[in-house]
Parts: sequence; C-alpha cells; structure tokens
Amino acid sequence: NIGEHHPIIRQLDEAAINRIAAGEVVERPASAVKELVENAIDAGATRIGVDIADGGKILIRVTDDGCGITADELPLALSRHATSKIDGSDLLNIHTFGFRGEALPSLGAVGRLTITSRVAGADAASIRVAAGQTGPVKPAALSAGTVVDLRDLFYATPARLKFMRTDRAEAQAITDVVKRLAMAEPAIGFTLRDVSGGGEGRVVFRSDPENGDLFDALHKRLGRILGRDFADNALRIDATRDGIRLFGYAALPTYSRGAAVAQYLFVNGRPVRDKMLGGALRAAYFDFLSRDRHPAAALFLDCDPTLVDVNVHPAKSEVRFRDPGIARGLIVSALRHALAEAGHRASSTVAN
Ligand code: ADP
Ligand code: MG
Repeated sequence: NIGEHHPIIRQLDEAAINRIAAGEVVERPASAVKELVENAIDAGATRIGVDIADGGKILIRVTDDGCGITADELPLALSRHATSKIDGSDLLNIHTFGFRGEALPSLGAVGRLTITSRVAGADAASIRVAAGQTGPVKPAALSAGTVVDLRDLFYATPARLKFMRTDRAEAQAITDVVKRLAMAEPAIGFTLRDVSGGGEGRVVFRSDPENGDLFDALHKRLGRILGRDFADNALRIDATRDGIRLFGYAALPTYSRGAAVAQYLFVNGRPVRDKMLGGALRAAYFDFLSRDRHPAAALFLDCDPTLVDVNVHPAKSEVRFRDPGIARGLIVSALRHALAEAGHRASSTVAN
C-alpha cells in the first residue's frame, strides 16, 4: 500500500514557522538586543535603555521613548511579516533598520515576551506571548514609549540553549552590539545595565544624547566609546565620490593597535561587518604603519539605498554593494589624503 509509506505534506502552524525563522534571526542574546534596539531607533526614540540579566539569557529589557504601538496593533506587531516600515513595493529603497516584520514573532517563539506600549494621547496596553502562544491585549501602566521584556530566551528550544556561551561572553557580545548602534546614533542616549544581581544593577555603558553638528556629536560619541585617546588622535574624514559619501574619524598611525579590534563600518547608518573595510584600511595606512599594527577607524558610507542591498541576511549585518570597488577606492583615497595632510601639518609644526 503506497499510502502507508508515502510522506504526507503538511502546512506547518504559525508557532512552528516562527520557531524555525527564529533560528536565523535570533542566534544569541546579542541578536535579540540588536533587533529590539533597532526597533527603538526606528520608533524615533531619543533615549534607549537596555537591561540584561545573566548575559541576556534570563532577561533582556529594552525601554524607549519612541512613538509607541497602539493597543489595536499590538497583536499585529507580533504576527509574522507584519511591519509598519515598508509596503513591500520597493525592497531596494529601505531607510529603517527593520523591514522584515520577523523580529518580534521570532522572539515570541523562543522566549517569554511582553510588550508594553503607549502612543501619545492613548492608554497604555500590553501583550504577552510565550512559546508562540499569544495572550490578550490588556490595559497597562506606562508614561510613554515602549518596553519590551524578553525572559528565558531559548527555554523552549533546549538545543539552542546548549550553544550559548558563558554569561560573561554573551554580555560582552551585547555590549558590543549596543556600542556599535550608539556610534551610529550619537543623538540618541543609551544606557546598558546589568541587573543580574537585582535592583538598580550596574551601569555597563552610558552615553547621553550628544549635541552639536554631525561631526561634533560623532566625535564626542566616539570618544565615549573608543576612548579619549582615539578622539584626541582622530582625523576627520569627509569625502564624496560617485554619489557615495564617506565620513567619520580615522586615527593617526601613532594610535594603532596590535589587533584589528577598533575598525567600524556603517553603511547608511547600519553597523556592518565587511571584509572590504580591513583591506581598505590596510591599503590606506600601508605607507604609515608596520605590518603588525592595525589602524582604528569608525567610518560611515552614505549612498542611495539602491546602490547597496541590505536584504542579504535576516540579521542584516551583511551588505552587498552594487560596486564594492567604488566604496573601497573612496576609503583608501580619502584616508591616504587625510594621513598625508596630517603628516605635512606635523612636519611643518616641527620646522617652525
Ligand atoms: P520590523 O522592525 O521589521 O518592522 P519587528 O517584528 O521588529 O519588524 O516589529 C514589528 C512592528 O512592530 C514594527 O514594524 C513596528 O511597527 C512595531 N514596533 C516594534 N518595536 C517597536 C517599538 N519599540 N516602538 C514602536 N513600534 C515598534
Ligand atoms: Mg524590527
């Protein structure tokens, strides 16, 4: 009898689909923090608080003062492929961090998620989802913005739980994510607290909103994150070519490091990891640094969103340039120019 041995095709239910997708979107606590902080930024927040306990495994709580979510829309925010950020007609023209509508349903599939939110002029409400089961919308108390509380990440997926590293390593990865986003958003205030011991917890990182123009604010923020030394030795970079603008700060060769640890690239405000940066920096500093030294830089490439595809991976830390050579060439030439100028300034100061 063929029917007995024939595998039956079934449509998976939404909870199972979310759990599978969560595997890609939420690899570890730091990816959950990234998604939630990006949502807060997209919501127009001016202050974002991140509380974590036990490396984010027990608790991740992100608080913002952004636009909020209406009570009516709370269930929608938790459903798959529901987003307020794009209408789906133009995937090449994306100006927000989010657009897939996957983060919240995925987090709700792998942890106990509570969203409490308030839109100005309306009452606050909250919704809870655990292991993919969404509860009713309930009245809540909140003065403004949104609080997303994620507990017991991966409790429903023990296999994932096993792959998590020590609390310390996970907390370090979270700190790295928050700092990268804080570099990209100098006008937003960030506070990261470790509340593992309960109570107020310990401030891991804190930076009030920076004021001043683009470069002033960025310079102050980089000083807070990469240290005074970086800020004191940083050259301002600002160059445009072929419709791509490069700006940011790159340190003098004297402030180099023994490892490539302080090299940051942002594309259209999005922190990305791209091997292109390392190669471009090596080429730019080639005449200024010995092989075993690595320059420090935080560089921002801004271009028409159609020149770069951010739709490569759900976690979106990869981008694909339509022409990677242009971006690389711009970085190399702008940094070489700035370094040569700084060299001239230094030698003329000595001569005087
Ligand atoms: P995406 O960010 O890709 O749209 P998410 O699942 O992360 O998908 O969020 C779904 C929707 O919920 C968002 O499009 C947004 O409308 C709303 N949302 C999520 N987080 C916040 C927040 N902190 N403040 C206001 N709205 C939010
Ligand atoms: Mg999102």
